Amino acid sequence: MADLLSGLGSLGLGNLENMDLFADEKKEAEAKAAAKAAPPKVEEKDFLFDKTYTCPVCGKEFKCKTLRSGKARLLGTDQDFRPRYENIDPLKYDILVCTTCGYAALPRYFNSLVSVQRKAIMAKIGASFKNPFKDTDETYSYEVALERYKLALVNTIVKSGKASEKAYICLKTAWLLRGHAESLDQAAPDYAEKKKALEAQENEFLKNALDGFVTASTKEEYPMAGMDETTVDLLTAVLAVRFGQKDLASRLISSILTSSSANSRMKDRARDLRDEFTKKA
Ligand SMILES: [Zn+2]
Repeated sequence: MADLLSGLGSLGLGNLENMDLFADEKKEAEAKAAAKAAPPKVEEKDFLFDKTYTCPVCGKEFKCKTLRSGKARLLGTDQDFRPRYENIDPLKYDILVCTTCGYAALPRYFNSLVSVQRKAIMAKIGASFKNPFKDTDETYSYEVALERYKLALVNTIVKSGKASEKAYICLKTAWLLRGHAESLDQAAPDYAEKKKALEAQENEFLKNALDGFVTASTKEEYPMAGMDETTVDLLTAVLAVRFGQKDLASRLISSILTSSSANSRMKDRARDLRDEFTKKA
């Protein structure tokens, strides 16, 4: 390369004689190769945006981190229907919280309040609520997300919500706790202790979800929390197996297998569940 520019010394530019003609192009190619080897890391915040909502209780506006639709990739679902996604746990962003009055709910129930419920929430929650949530957080930690779920649950109790709504919040809280346990650093010295504590909490919420769905199925209409009868029956059966309530599980599985509205995929899942717990017995 030196030859190409030799003689520049006579122009007073001798220090440039050794410049590489294609240096810029080489740099660009190297950068491209590096980018290919390590694709840009997808961060949790990339899936989120701030959405503004109007509170049906106090009328004030508030912002919540909301999932961009269609961006997260579903990896699979657990036996109790918990969805697992790549690079993000969307469950953390499912609860809408009004930062003024403390009204909190799942989006599905957010606007369906009657006047007596509004008044109860204002009197029992709004009057003493102190907002712990910051608008500046780019993402929600599992701890913050758990507080949001607990706030939604207490709102549902205060407004005398249906058993299915309470059960559904308990179910999703259990899923959140499972996600938290899975996200723990296994090399941390307190890993085993933290995992055990989260699993104990998850069980507590799942047990309440089971009780709630059993109660709901005796007095509510379907769809329940957006689920049809077969889905609720299968979910309840999965939870019943987990808590050793075999009679209940058997009864629900039989009802799915003989149902004319259950599709073959749900019947297969019910059969698998029956095989699983007959093997255990
Ligand atoms: Zn409000």
